[in-house]
Amino acid sequence: MRLTCSVEIVNRLLPSHNLKKPSQKSHSQISLGKKPGSTGKDGVLFLMICTAKDRNGTKIVVKDNIEQYFVKFINEGKATVRIKEPQHDICISKADPLQLKNFLNLLRSASQGKELERITLSALAPASARNVEKPKSKMVVLTRKDYPITTNFPSSLVHLQVSACNMKRVDSRILDLKKLQVLDLSENLIEDLPEKFNKMLQLNTVKFSHNKFMKFPLLLCRMPLSDNLVSVDLSDNQLTRIPLELCELKNLFYLKLDRNKIELLPPTIGKLVRLKQLSCVENLIKTLPANFNRLQLDDLDLYGNPLDLPEADTVITSHLEFPTLLEVSARAIKKMRIPYSNEDLFEQLCNYLDSARQCWCGNYCFRCSARYILRLDLHQMVKNVTGWNVVGQTLVPVEAFLCSQNCLNKFQKNPKAYWKKK
Ligand SMILES: [Zn+2]
Repeated sequence: MRLTCSVEIVNRLLPSHNLKKPSQKSHSQISLGKKPGSTGKDGVLFLMICTAKDRNGTKIVVKDNIEQYFVKFINEGKATVRIKEPQHDICISKADPLQLKNFLNLLRSASQGKELERITLSALAPASARNVEKPKSKMVVLTRKDYPITTNFPSSLVHLQVSACNMKRVDSRILDLKKLQVLDLSENLIEDLPEKFNKMLQLNTVKFSHNKFMKFPLLLCRMPLSDNLVSVDLSDNQLTRIPLELCELKNLFYLKLDRNKIELLPPTIGKLVRLKQLSCVENLIKTLPANFNRLQLDDLDLYGNPLDLPEADTVITSHLEFPTLLEVSARAIKKMRIPYSNEDLFEQLCNYLDSARQCWCGNYCFRCSARYILRLDLHQMVKNVTGWNVVGQTLVPVEAFLCSQNCLNKFQKNPKAYWKKK
């Protein structure tokens, strides 16, 4: 029987000689068996520990040579076996708990001199490199010729980078990597993500900079990915619009959208309560959504955007006349959250409904609204504002939509009260 795990061999004599050795855990294969050539009942049973450095392994006699077993943490895959001669403790960790239990049971029987079934014993041959090498957790492919075609990606990968490989779609073999947490596919030709992308349950960091995305991939905003993603980089693509769904990424900490063609950030961006680092360098942003003020950022970079700062807080357009029948019904559909799609309504009507803006009172409005630009000092909400056009200048234009004269009056009187509202 063989067990793959992490092993540290501690010499119990060292402390009595006042010596200390630094901990040296290594990925190992432990087996229980007889030396090749030894036959029948006469063969002596050995415990053999092979590591990548020593593939021939250390062999320890088993019979009447085990002093004690420490198995308090066996369910976590940890145990220690105390050997009588040499005076060593074999500390096992990172083992499969079930396999470890079986192995120790077998070892116990063997040390008591019981005869074991032959099938449970291994021939004590040197371990193959594959069995003792640490499973590969990181892989970086930077040229097309290094891209694995005939072999698979190691299933143990946690971090994978495949850059500059002219990849047009995400390889299905990548989608099968169940342990993957960080996926970097920058500098490729990807336009969209396959449906299965959402099944990567451990993924928390995606980097798709320098690709061909025209639309923000909505798959990232769906469960379970939406709960797990911490870092998203979509710099240097051709995004024009950031969907409202982005705000579903509850745990998003880092968002980078540099050098796209984005004109507006989502009006509900304030829902990203965990967001700490936001970079939108060189886009086409003229104003920020009113909700922006709810963010609590550590770093913000808005360099190279045509931010249009008025001289003072001001009403830009006001269409607060009596709303049309179309607007009244559209406001009701939005307020009651009635679902709609291209199948129920003309595309034009869908687009109209999609253009809804939310007033601070919670109501939705369309053309019949006032657009108000307020000057916001970023220092109120960001620790480090970098890459600013003018040194010391941290005022930005923030855009709010008000649904009625009443709301506009209240807002003009005390804009700060607005921020406290959801
Ligand atoms: Zn209102």
